[in-house]
Amino acid sequence: MFTEARTKLTLYYLLIIMAISIFFSLIIYRGATNEFRRMETVQRLRRPPPAAYVIEPDIVHETETRIAFSLFYINLIIFVIAGVGGYFLAGKTLDPISNMVDEQKEFVGNASHELRTPLTSLKTAIEVALRDKNLNLIQAKKLLISNLEDVNKMQKLSNYLLELNRYESGKEIPMTNVDLKNIVLKVVGKTKVKTDLKKSVVVANEDAVTELVTILLDNALKYSGKNKNVEIRTKSGGILEVEDKGIGISKEDLPHIFDRFYRSDKSTTKNAYGLGLSIAKSIVELHKGTIEVESKLGKGTLFRVVI
Ligand code: ADP
Repeated sequence: MFTEARTKLTLYYLLIIMAISIFFSLIIYRGATNEFRRMETVQRLRRPPPAAYVIEPDIVHETETRIAFSLFYINLIIFVIAGVGGYFLAGKTLDPISNMVDEQKEFVGNASHELRTPLTSLKTAIEVALRDKNLNLIQAKKLLISNLEDVNKMQKLSNYLLELNRYESGKEIPMTNVDLKNIVLKVVGKTKVKTDLKKSVVVANEDAVTELVTILLDNALKYSGKNKNVEIRTKSGGILEVEDKGIGISKEDLPHIFDRFYRSDKSTTKNAYGLGLSIAKSIVELHKGTIEVESKLGKGTLFRVVI
Protein backbone atom coordinates (compact mmCIF):
# COMPACT_ATOMS: atom_id res chain seq x y z
CA MET A 1 0.00 0.00 0.00
CA PHE A 2 2.75 2.42 0.95
CA THR A 3 5.01 1.48 -1.99
CA GLU A 4 2.24 2.45 -4.38
CA ALA A 5 1.55 5.68 -2.48
CA ARG A 6 5.28 6.48 -2.51
CA THR A 7 5.53 5.98 -6.27
CA LYS A 8 2.45 8.13 -6.83
CA LEU A 9 3.77 10.89 -4.59
CA THR A 10 7.12 10.79 -6.40
CA LEU A 11 5.30 11.18 -9.73
CA TYR A 12 3.38 14.19 -8.39
CA TYR A 13 6.60 15.80 -7.13
CA LEU A 14 8.24 15.09 -10.49
CA LEU A 15 5.29 16.49 -12.41
CA ILE A 16 5.35 19.78 -10.49
CA ILE A 17 9.13 20.19 -10.72
CA MET A 18 9.26 19.32 -14.43
CA ALA A 19 6.34 21.62 -15.24
CA ILE A 20 8.17 24.53 -13.56
CA SER A 21 11.50 23.58 -15.14
CA ILE A 22 10.08 23.24 -18.67
CA PHE A 23 8.09 26.47 -18.28
CA PHE A 24 11.24 28.44 -17.39
CA SER A 25 13.30 26.66 -20.08
CA LEU A 26 10.78 27.79 -22.71
CA ILE A 27 10.93 31.37 -21.41
CA ILE A 28 14.75 31.30 -21.50
CA TYR A 29 14.74 29.83 -25.01
CA ARG A 30 12.22 32.38 -26.30
CA GLY A 31 14.10 35.24 -24.66
CA ALA A 32 17.49 34.19 -26.03
CA THR A 33 16.30 33.50 -29.60
CA ASN A 34 14.37 36.78 -29.72
CA GLU A 35 17.52 38.63 -28.69
CA PHE A 36 19.56 36.97 -31.47
CA ARG A 37 16.93 37.70 -34.10
CA ARG A 38 16.70 41.29 -32.94
CA MET A 39 20.49 41.69 -33.17
CA GLU A 40 20.49 40.16 -36.63
CA THR A 41 17.66 42.43 -37.85
CA VAL A 42 19.29 45.54 -36.38
CA GLN A 43 22.51 44.64 -38.17
CA ARG A 44 20.70 44.02 -41.50
CA LEU A 45 18.80 47.31 -41.36
CA ARG A 46 21.83 49.40 -40.48
CA ARG A 47 22.57 52.25 -42.91
CA PRO A 48 25.12 52.31 -44.38
CA PRO A 49 25.21 48.48 -44.40
CA PRO A 50 28.22 47.01 -42.53
CA ALA A 51 31.15 45.77 -44.62
CA ALA A 52 30.67 42.30 -43.22
CA TYR A 53 27.95 40.62 -41.22
CA VAL A 54 29.14 39.82 -37.72
CA ILE A 55 26.02 37.82 -36.95
CA GLU A 56 25.39 35.46 -39.81
CA PRO A 57 21.85 33.97 -40.05
CA ASP A 58 23.21 30.39 -40.03
CA ILE A 59 25.27 31.13 -36.88
CA VAL A 60 22.09 32.42 -35.27
CA HIS A 61 20.30 29.23 -36.21
CA GLU A 62 23.11 27.05 -34.92
CA THR A 63 23.24 28.96 -31.61
CA GLU A 64 19.51 28.54 -31.18
CA THR A 65 19.85 24.78 -31.69
CA ARG A 66 22.74 24.65 -29.19
CA ILE A 67 20.64 26.53 -26.59
CA ALA A 68 17.74 24.15 -27.20
CA PHE A 69 20.03 21.14 -26.64
CA SER A 70 21.61 22.66 -23.51
CA LEU A 71 18.17 23.30 -22.06
CA PHE A 72 17.11 19.76 -22.95
CA TYR A 73 20.11 18.26 -21.11
CA ILE A 74 19.59 20.54 -18.12
CA ASN A 75 15.97 19.36 -17.94
CA LEU A 76 17.08 15.77 -18.20
CA ILE A 77 19.45 16.22 -15.25
CA ILE A 78 16.71 17.97 -13.26
CA PHE A 79 14.38 15.06 -14.11
CA VAL A 80 16.83 12.49 -12.75
CA ILE A 81 17.69 14.50 -9.61
CA ALA A 82 14.01 15.33 -8.95
CA GLY A 83 13.08 11.67 -9.44
CA VAL A 84 15.65 10.37 -6.95
CA GLY A 85 15.13 13.27 -4.51
CA GLY A 86 11.33 13.03 -4.87
CA TYR A 87 11.37 9.32 -4.11
CA PHE A 88 13.48 9.94 -1.01
CA LEU A 89 11.26 12.83 0.17
CA ALA A 90 8.07 10.86 -0.54
CA GLY A 91 9.44 8.15 1.76
CA LYS A 92 10.14 10.75 4.45
CA THR A 93 6.63 12.24 4.05
CA LEU A 94 4.94 8.87 4.34
CA ASP A 95 7.07 7.58 7.24
CA PRO A 96 4.98 9.07 10.09
CA ILE A 97 1.73 7.91 8.46
CA SER A 98 3.13 4.43 7.93
CA ASN A 99 4.29 4.30 11.59
CA MET A 100 0.85 5.42 12.73
CA VAL A 101 -0.86 2.71 10.70
CA ASP A 102 1.53 0.08 12.14
CA GLU A 103 0.79 1.33 15.66
CA GLN A 104 -2.94 1.23 14.97
CA LYS A 105 -2.69 -2.33 13.63
CA GLU A 106 -0.76 -3.42 16.71
CA PHE A 107 -3.34 -1.75 18.92
CA VAL A 108 -6.29 -3.48 17.23
CA GLY A 109 -4.41 -6.80 17.42
CA ASN A 110 -3.76 -6.36 21.15
CA ALA A 111 -7.33 -5.27 21.88
CA SER A 112 -8.79 -8.24 20.00
CA HIS A 113 -6.42 -10.58 21.80
CA GLU A 114 -7.46 -9.19 25.19
CA LEU A 115 -11.13 -9.59 24.29
CA ARG A 116 -10.69 -13.12 23.04
CA THR A 117 -9.55 -14.53 26.41
CA PRO A 118 -12.69 -13.68 28.45
CA LEU A 119 -14.90 -14.44 25.43
CA THR A 120 -13.42 -17.93 25.04
CA SER A 121 -13.74 -18.59 28.76
CA LEU A 122 -17.36 -17.42 28.68
CA LYS A 123 -18.21 -19.55 25.66
CA THR A 124 -16.55 -22.70 27.03
CA ALA A 125 -18.22 -22.35 30.43
CA ILE A 126 -21.68 -21.93 28.84
CA GLU A 127 -21.18 -24.83 26.42
CA VAL A 128 -20.03 -27.19 29.17
CA ALA A 129 -22.97 -26.20 31.37
CA LEU A 130 -25.45 -26.70 28.52
CA ARG A 131 -24.15 -30.21 27.92
CA ASP A 132 -24.54 -31.09 31.61
CA LYS A 133 -28.01 -32.61 31.98
CA ASN A 134 -27.81 -32.68 35.77
CA LEU A 135 -26.95 -29.04 36.27
CA ASN A 136 -28.64 -27.86 39.46
CA LEU A 137 -29.53 -24.37 40.59
CA ILE A 138 -26.46 -23.91 42.78
CA GLN A 139 -24.12 -24.92 39.94
CA ALA A 140 -26.03 -22.68 37.55
CA LYS A 141 -25.60 -19.73 39.93
CA LYS A 142 -21.88 -20.44 40.25
CA LEU A 143 -21.64 -20.45 36.48
CA LEU A 144 -23.47 -17.15 36.25
CA ILE A 145 -21.10 -15.61 38.81
CA SER A 146 -18.10 -16.73 36.78
CA ASN A 147 -19.79 -15.49 33.59
CA LEU A 148 -20.38 -12.14 35.22
CA GLU A 149 -16.67 -11.90 36.04
CA ASP A 150 -15.82 -12.38 32.39
CA VAL A 151 -18.43 -9.87 31.31
CA ASN A 152 -17.04 -7.37 33.83
CA LYS A 153 -13.56 -7.88 32.39
CA MET A 154 -14.80 -7.17 28.90
CA GLN A 155 -16.77 -4.16 30.08
CA LYS A 156 -13.68 -2.76 31.77
CA LEU A 157 -11.65 -3.26 28.62
CA SER A 158 -14.28 -1.62 26.40
CA ASN A 159 -14.48 1.33 28.84
CA TYR A 160 -10.70 1.67 28.69
CA LEU A 161 -10.76 1.60 24.89
CA LEU A 162 -13.49 4.23 24.75
CA GLU A 163 -11.57 6.45 27.15
CA LEU A 164 -8.36 6.09 25.16
CA ASN A 165 -10.28 7.03 22.04
CA ARG A 166 -11.84 10.03 23.78
CA TYR A 167 -8.63 11.41 25.24
CA GLU A 168 -6.47 10.71 22.20
CA SER A 169 -8.89 11.94 19.55
CA GLY A 170 -7.41 15.43 19.74
CA LYS A 171 -10.87 16.92 20.29
CA GLU A 172 -11.03 19.73 22.83
CA ILE A 173 -12.85 18.89 26.05
CA PRO A 174 -14.53 21.50 28.25
CA MET A 175 -12.28 22.84 31.00
CA THR A 176 -13.31 24.70 34.13
CA ASN A 177 -11.70 25.76 37.41
CA VAL A 178 -11.49 22.67 39.60
CA ASP A 179 -9.83 22.03 42.94
CA LEU A 180 -7.64 18.91 42.90
CA LYS A 181 -8.28 18.53 46.62
CA ASN A 182 -12.05 18.07 46.06
CA ILE A 183 -11.48 15.58 43.23
CA VAL A 184 -9.14 13.48 45.38
CA LEU A 185 -11.59 13.56 48.31
CA LYS A 186 -14.34 12.32 45.99
CA VAL A 187 -12.19 9.49 44.54
CA VAL A 188 -10.71 8.39 47.85
CA GLY A 189 -14.19 8.18 49.40
CA LYS A 190 -14.14 5.54 52.08
CA THR A 191 -10.86 3.98 50.96
CA LYS A 192 -8.32 3.88 53.75
CA VAL A 193 -5.45 5.89 52.28
CA LYS A 194 -3.42 8.63 53.91
CA THR A 195 -4.04 12.08 52.50
CA ASP A 196 -2.31 15.43 52.75
CA LEU A 197 -4.49 17.73 50.70
CA LYS A 198 -3.85 21.42 50.05
CA LYS A 199 -6.17 23.55 47.95
CA SER A 200 -4.96 23.43 44.36
CA VAL A 201 -7.20 25.06 41.77
CA VAL A 202 -6.44 24.27 38.14
CA VAL A 203 -8.17 24.72 34.79
CA ALA A 204 -9.12 21.17 33.88
CA ASN A 205 -11.80 18.74 32.83
CA GLU A 206 -13.25 17.35 36.04
CA ASP A 207 -14.21 13.91 34.65
CA ALA A 208 -10.81 13.41 33.09
CA VAL A 209 -8.89 14.39 36.24
CA THR A 210 -11.19 12.17 38.32
CA GLU A 211 -10.28 9.30 35.98
CA LEU A 212 -6.58 10.15 36.31
CA VAL A 213 -6.70 10.09 40.13
CA THR A 214 -8.72 6.84 40.05
CA ILE A 215 -6.15 5.13 37.81
CA LEU A 216 -3.17 6.19 39.94
CA LEU A 217 -4.94 5.29 43.20
CA ASP A 218 -6.10 1.91 41.80
CA ASN A 219 -2.56 1.05 40.75
CA ALA A 220 -1.08 2.15 44.08
CA LEU A 221 -3.54 -0.12 45.91
CA LYS A 222 -3.19 -2.94 43.36
CA TYR A 223 0.60 -3.04 43.55
CA SER A 224 1.15 -2.41 47.25
CA GLY A 225 0.49 -5.91 48.55
CA LYS A 226 -1.32 -6.37 51.82
CA ASN A 227 -0.06 -3.34 53.70
CA LYS A 228 -1.83 -0.86 51.33
CA ASN A 229 0.41 1.89 52.60
CA VAL A 230 -0.69 4.55 50.13
CA GLU A 231 -0.63 8.34 50.43
CA ILE A 232 -2.15 10.96 48.15
CA ARG A 233 -1.04 14.56 48.29
CA THR A 234 -2.15 17.72 46.50
CA LYS A 235 -0.11 20.90 46.55
CA SER A 236 -0.71 24.36 45.18
CA GLY A 237 0.40 24.81 41.57
CA GLY A 238 -1.60 21.83 40.29
CA ILE A 239 0.61 19.18 41.89
CA LEU A 240 -0.77 15.73 42.62
CA GLU A 241 1.32 12.95 44.16
CA VAL A 242 0.38 9.32 44.69
CA GLU A 243 2.90 7.31 46.69
CA ASP A 244 2.89 3.68 47.72
CA LYS A 245 5.30 1.41 49.59
CA GLY A 246 4.52 -1.55 47.37
CA ILE A 247 6.33 -3.84 44.95
CA GLY A 248 7.93 -1.01 42.95
CA ILE A 249 8.84 -1.03 39.27
CA SER A 250 12.06 -2.46 37.86
CA LYS A 251 14.48 -0.31 35.84
CA GLU A 252 13.70 -2.40 32.74
CA ASP A 253 9.95 -1.83 33.06
CA LEU A 254 10.11 1.86 33.95
CA PRO A 255 10.54 3.25 30.40
CA HIS A 256 7.57 1.19 29.14
CA ILE A 257 4.86 1.53 31.80
CA PHE A 258 3.07 4.30 29.86
CA ASP A 259 2.92 2.19 26.67
CA ARG A 260 -0.45 0.78 25.68
CA PHE A 261 -1.01 -2.80 26.84
CA TYR A 262 2.31 -2.90 28.71
CA ARG A 263 2.23 -5.02 31.84
CA SER A 264 5.25 -6.02 33.81
CA ASP A 265 5.75 -9.74 34.47
CA LYS A 266 5.02 -9.03 38.13
CA SER A 267 1.58 -7.78 37.27
CA THR A 268 -0.47 -10.90 37.78
CA THR A 269 -3.48 -8.95 38.92
CA LYS A 270 -6.82 -9.75 37.31
CA ASN A 271 -8.34 -7.06 35.15
CA ALA A 272 -4.93 -5.61 34.39
CA TYR A 273 -4.78 -4.63 30.75
CA GLY A 274 -1.81 -2.32 30.79
CA LEU A 275 -4.00 0.54 29.60
CA GLY A 276 -4.46 2.54 32.81
CA LEU A 277 -1.22 4.48 32.66
CA SER A 278 -1.50 5.18 28.92
CA ILE A 279 -4.93 6.72 29.59
CA ALA A 280 -3.42 8.67 32.52
CA LYS A 281 -0.69 9.98 30.23
CA SER A 282 -3.19 11.02 27.54
CA ILE A 283 -5.24 12.90 30.14
CA VAL A 284 -2.15 14.71 31.42
CA GLU A 285 -1.09 15.60 27.87
CA LEU A 286 -4.57 16.91 27.12
CA HIS A 287 -4.05 19.34 30.01
CA LYS A 288 -0.52 20.19 28.78
CA GLY A 289 0.82 18.87 32.07
CA THR A 290 3.54 16.41 33.04
CA ILE A 291 3.57 13.00 34.71
CA GLU A 292 6.71 11.57 36.30
CA VAL A 293 7.47 8.40 38.16
CA GLU A 294 10.11 7.48 40.72
CA SER A 295 10.27 3.87 41.78
CA LYS A 296 12.50 1.35 43.52
CA LEU A 297 11.88 -2.35 43.20
CA GLY A 298 10.57 -3.70 46.50
CA LYS A 299 10.46 -0.23 48.06
CA GLY A 300 7.58 1.59 46.40
CA THR A 301 6.52 4.04 43.75
CA LEU A 302 5.76 7.75 43.51
CA PHE A 303 3.74 9.27 40.65
CA ARG A 304 3.89 13.04 40.40
CA VAL A 305 1.50 14.92 38.12
CA VAL A 306 1.63 18.64 37.41
CA ILE A 307 -1.38 20.13 35.65
P1 ADP B 1 -2.35 -2.37 34.53
O1 ADP B 1 -3.73 -2.52 34.05
O2 ADP B 1 -1.46 -3.54 34.23
O3 ADP B 1 -2.26 -1.92 35.95
P2 ADP B 1 -1.21 0.20 33.88
O4 ADP B 1 -1.04 0.86 32.55
O5 ADP B 1 -2.01 0.92 34.89
O6 ADP B 1 -1.78 -1.23 33.59
O7 ADP B 1 0.23 -0.08 34.44
C1 ADP B 1 1.23 -0.65 33.63
C2 ADP B 1 2.24 -1.42 34.47
O8 ADP B 1 2.93 -0.49 35.32
C3 ADP B 1 1.61 -2.41 35.43
O9 ADP B 1 1.46 -3.65 34.82
C4 ADP B 1 2.59 -2.46 36.57
O10 ADP B 1 3.59 -3.40 36.29
C5 ADP B 1 3.24 -1.09 36.56
N1 ADP B 1 2.72 -0.22 37.65
C6 ADP B 1 1.85 0.80 37.51
N2 ADP B 1 1.62 1.41 38.70
C7 ADP B 1 2.39 0.76 39.60
C8 ADP B 1 2.61 0.92 41.01
N3 ADP B 1 2.00 1.87 41.72
N4 ADP B 1 3.50 0.08 41.60
C9 ADP B 1 4.13 -0.88 40.89
N5 ADP B 1 3.96 -1.07 39.57
C10 ADP B 1 3.10 -0.27 38.92
